[in-house]
Amino acid sequence: MAAMVKIIARAISLANAPMLSEAELIVRAKEWSETLCGIIPEERLRDSFNRAIRDHKGTFAISAYDLKDAWWEVRKDEVKEQSARREQELRDLEMKALQPGFEPCSYCFGCGFRYTIKQEHNGRHYTGVIKCQQCDHWERRMQWSKK
Ligand SMILES: [Zn+2]
Repeated sequence: MAAMVKIIARAISLANAPMLSEAELIVRAKEWSETLCGIIPEERLRDSFNRAIRDHKGTFAISAYDLKDAWWEVRKDEVKEQSARREQELRDLEMKALQPGFEPCSYCFGCGFRYTIKQEHNGRHYTGVIKCQQCDHWERRMQWSKK
């Protein structure tokens, strides 16, 4: 709530609009918080506000709607950044594979899948493709998806 009070006071101040009393600020911060709860994580309010300022056009004070829109922009950029980073890692991996002396996983050859032949209970054999557990391919994938 304190963060929201600060943001609203800043928005009003930046627009040269008449400042609210402290009690009014708290009422408004409550309304904004209730409206934006579940949309913007509290710890990202400041990022959203900074983005809203950056993208703001006109002289009206930044509204709760501006904050919401700014948050989507922040997320869009973050997702874009993430996928660019992953692509770069894949390119790095490919480059690494081209280096002399590079030895790919001898089970999956770096693709993450390998053939397996399994004996079923009925004595028949099952031939199929499973995820390779002999190298760190999937572990790396997990790390990428977390970034
Ligand atoms: Zn492997």
